[in-house]
Amino acid sequence: MVTEKNGGHSALLENYQALVGNVDSLCREIILASGDAIACRKGCDGCCRHFSVFLVEAYAIADAVANLEPERSALVHDRARKALGGETCPLLEEKGCLLYNQRPIICRTHGLPILIRNGGATTIDFCPMNYRNVDSIEGRHIIDLDRLNDTLAAINSLFMKYFLCGTLPSAQRLTIAEAVLLQI
Ligand code: SF4
Repeated sequence: MVTEKNGGHSALLENYQALVGNVDSLCREIILASGDAIACRKGCDGCCRHFSVFLVEAYAIADAVANLEPERSALVHDRARKALGGETCPLLEEKGCLLYNQRPIICRTHGLPILIRNGGATTIDFCPMNYRNVDSIEGRHIIDLDRLNDTLAAINSLFMKYFLCGTLPSAQRLTIAEAVLLQI
């Protein structure tokens, strides 16, 4: 059980939700600017994996599952129990996401151009179905993955400070299945 030390749950998720809002805005802008160069569409699950997430994201997922209709919540819990060690995301159903509006940040950037730094080298990665006949992408339409991850890590650290996490799994990251099953 997570013990609240200070403030309300929603207040503690405020920083995270603000980051989600910023990421969504940027992704929308990229998609709008890219027009038909983006092939990503509803029904494509090519990027869906059983990801791991920071505790703050796990908590947001658990909170969202707790607010589902009882029948849907039971379905998601059942899928998560079966998927604990598996590679398929328990939230993936018929090529759709059972928790689309509350999906993790990594899922929001699926397929879009991301900047990856490796030592001194930088690469830009995106779904090979996207930007097929495009020679260049504007810098402002490329997601700086390190910066995004650093911001998320900082928000997670702040979040952890406000909770006693003694009874939570000790790993720094939880799988999506573990997040669904988190007792909050
Ligand atoms: S949370 Fe949703 S979008 Fe993310 S991998 Fe799972 S099914 Fe796909």
